[in-house]
Amino acid sequence: MYSLRRTKIIATLGPATESEEMLVKITRAGVDIVRLNMAHAKHSWTRDIIRRIRRASQTANREVGIMMDIKGPEIRTGDLITPIELKPGEIFDFTVKPGATYEQCAEVRSVNVNYLNLVNDIGIGNTVLVDNGLIRLEVLSKDQAHIRCRVLTPGELKSRRHINLPGIKVSLPSFTEKDRDDTFVGIEEGIDFVALSFVREATDIVKLRSFLAEHQSRARIIAKIEDQTAIRNLDSIIRATDVLMVARGDLGIEVPFQELPVIQRRAVATCIEHGRPVIIATHMLESMITQPMPTRAEITDVANAVYERSDCLMLSGETTIGRYPLECVSVLDTVSRRIERELRNELPEPTTFIKERMKLLLSAVVMANEIPNSIILALTRYGTTAAGLAAHRPAHSPIVAVTDSINTLRQLKIIRSVEPYLVTLFSDPEKSTARAIESLIRQGRFQRGDKIIAVIDMPNNQSRCIGSIQLHTVE
Ligand code: PGA
Ligand code: MN
Repeated sequence: MYSLRRTKIIATLGPATESEEMLVKITRAGVDIVRLNMAHAKHSWTRDIIRRIRRASQTANREVGIMMDIKGPEIRTGDLITPIELKPGEIFDFTVKPGATYEQCAEVRSVNVNYLNLVNDIGIGNTVLVDNGLIRLEVLSKDQAHIRCRVLTPGELKSRRHINLPGIKVSLPSFTEKDRDDTFVGIEEGIDFVALSFVREATDIVKLRSFLAEHQSRARIIAKIEDQTAIRNLDSIIRATDVLMVARGDLGIEVPFQELPVIQRRAVATCIEHGRPVIIATHMLESMITQPMPTRAEITDVANAVYERSDCLMLSGETTIGRYPLECVSVLDTVSRRIERELRNELPEPTTFIKERMKLLLSAVVMANEIPNSIILALTRYGTTAAGLAAHRPAHSPIVAVTDSINTLRQLKIIRSVEPYLVTLFSDPEKSTARAIESLIRQGRFQRGDKIIAVIDMPNNQSRCIGSIQLHTVE
């Protein structure tokens, strides 16, 4: 019998997964969305890979959504000829002078930083974290060109390492020139999602939205929350964005680590409340970069995200440079299905949507919850009806979404419980419903006796939108 995995899987692409052969394999293994991390990508690679992904989908006969993750206001150290071994208590300078390569000379060792205004944003006594929080320094003094620090937690400093400044509001623009160039390439190649890193407030999203609109792109926006400012503005960010990503990599450095599960839980609950899909990212199966099996703690972390009813689980290093990318996808698939079975008989907290339209969709979900083995069918042009239904988190019914737009189909891949299909729709909703059911029977998705709860909430030819719920039994 057909079985749906509700929780969606995102895989970041890199050397381990970028060949056409591997793309076909991970698509067949159940990846729903692939992610391009623009912090590491060149434009020629980006264009090539997008075309390769679309070809692999054809071969695998399964569509995937493409997410372009732009790096946003990220601060990095410059290039080093050789790595610097930082010693405990050592005095060390960050220099903001432009110029790429540092040569070891003076008595105080130093490295360049790619952000000129850092000296103004940072204060004496602040903490500077380098390389995912591995190296910790304290600011002692500063002038126009240097920030002088003392090393608290030592480590080896390599080229182009990521810098975190916990609690400091960096005055870099949210959408940088590089982001603009990257997004432009993405739009030209037809990406489905743009993920904006280090979103700090709702206006960051508004700006990206107007850039997308200016260039006639219908790509959906994913806001990545990664620092304390974003947490303070969580509610307004969720309202402004299309999708939220709990980016635990940077977040786990920027906030005290014990806050991480608290924030994750609150973010997921608030997203469900506002009908926004939510992604849990980073370190889901970190040990599987080198090991074929997950740790018990990782299994439990994945299970927890599914118990929380988040929409997507994301893989990063596991599928970019890891040795076991396919095994990782399979672990997420297996654990998700198992936990979803536990949730079948558990009704989620009732949501309190204000809009009347959402109440119509809620009625459909309540009805589906009451009818064993029922399937929800949504006719949806831009995906809003399907997304609204998913927001009510049906207990056991899948949401079969039919649309006549391949872009909508790919964008629906990110939403929990939604199975999108491409079917021709007509201006007459009745005709569309009949055709959709016929087509799904032909494809073997609907069988005789199935109880279909059809939600039709589309404009008819007079452009009037009359929402309705119908109960069909497949004959
Ligand atoms: P990144 O974002 O992989 O682009 O840093 C995810 C995270 O910080 O968790
Ligand atoms: Mn990050």
